[in-house]
Amino acid sequence: MRPPICYSCRKRFSPSKEGGKVRFKLSEEDKVYNKRFEKEGFVGHPKGLEWFCEKHIEKAKSLKHLTIKEASSLLKNGQKVSETIAKTETSWWDKIRDFFRL
Ligand SMILES: [Zn+2]
Repeated sequence: MRPPICYSCRKRFSPSKEGGKVRFKLSEEDKVYNKRFEKEGFVGHPKGLEWFCEKHIEKAKSLKHLTIKEASSLLKNGQKVSETIAKTETSWWDKIRDFFRL
């Protein structure tokens, strides 16, 4: 098991008070990798299981239907992505408003 360092912001935190682990969907590759943990005495960090601080755990939970690979860019550049979405939504809204005005 890795120490509790947030996957999104690399902040070290205490999991008894804030944040926690999120288990993501496993790709076939991850499932094969995780098989080794079924053997006794294997020490390491299973794939698809990541730590998140209290700021990022809600977002992480909302993405756990994805594999960690798919979720990673959203989790690491979360702000950028939501800004892009907000911009797109605004331009669509403007187009619709303009359409009805004409
Ligand atoms: Zn964080």
